[in-house]
Amino acid sequence: FLKGKTALVTGSTSGIGLGYARALAAEGAAVMINGFGDAAEIDSHVAQLRDSSGVGAIYCPADMTKPAEIRDMVAQCHAELGGPDILINNAGIQHVAPIDEFPEDKWDAILAIILSSTFHSTAAALPHMKAQSWGRIINTGSMHSLVASPYKSAYNAAKHGVAGLTKTVALEVATQGITANTICPGYVWTPLVEGQIPDTMKARGLTREQVINDVLLDKQPQKQFVSIEQVAALALFLCRDEAAAITGANLSVDGGWTAQ
Ligand code: NAD
Repeated sequence: FLKGKTALVTGSTSGIGLGYARALAAEGAAVMINGFGDAAEIDSHVAQLRDSSGVGAIYCPADMTKPAEIRDMVAQCHAELGGPDILINNAGIQHVAPIDEFPEDKWDAILAIILSSTFHSTAAALPHMKAQSWGRIINTGSMHSLVASPYKSAYNAAKHGVAGLTKTVALEVATQGITANTICPGYVWTPLVEGQIPDTMKARGLTREQVINDVLLDKQPQKQFVSIEQVAALALFLCRDEAAAITGANLSVDGGWTAQ
């Protein structure tokens, strides 16, 4: 149902972002992916996406801490694939430490990659969406857009910020056929989650198993990780005409985390 549409997904060389790209391509959208990683692996993702979409798929290595690279990424997408009609802001990193020991450079990087990049890409993509009176902006928030956990000051601040920014965008373009929403996943098993286990073990003095069962899944009532496919399916629904009235919303896919 996305034939003729172009999607740009930031942070999509791995995890949830790659899941979004795969789901969109399978519906016939042309896709630009972005993020870091092994060049051969990225080439193979692009080839698979191109096959699956039957239209086109390209990769842009823009660094989401660099505003000029973000705006060039949107311009490159427009020039080479058209659009973007669908913009998914998804790039993210995590750092776990008590606030009085939280490294300044990690604070700056997390705010830049999660929050400021969403501002820059949205600002660059909106003129095209406005011109055609259709657009979908989907931002990956988190349960940490709605509630906090200790030792994640930068991440909680950035993800709460994404929810606020998304609502503002939704209001500004409400009459122009463009929706903006935040998807708020609970814990999804991806490299980002795996990567924070050692620091959480250190910060809390726990074993790996204790971190998984007593910290990560402690507040996730369903006691299992959300799947990448479950998150991507919600993004696809938001692209449908039936979802045109859903805007400015925080949509939780969190196994019940924020019901508490
Ligand atoms: P991931 O580590 O698998 O993917 C992160 C992606 O962002 C990768 O493609 C990486 O290369 C890219 N990236 C990192 N820094 C970048 C930069 N400076 N410029 C461009 N790209 C950059 O992680 P994931 O778990 O798939 O996370 C994706 C999003 O989902 C993040 O915003 C994360 O906060 C959010 N999220 C994840 C979970 C979870 O449990 N995994 C839960 C809620 C929200």
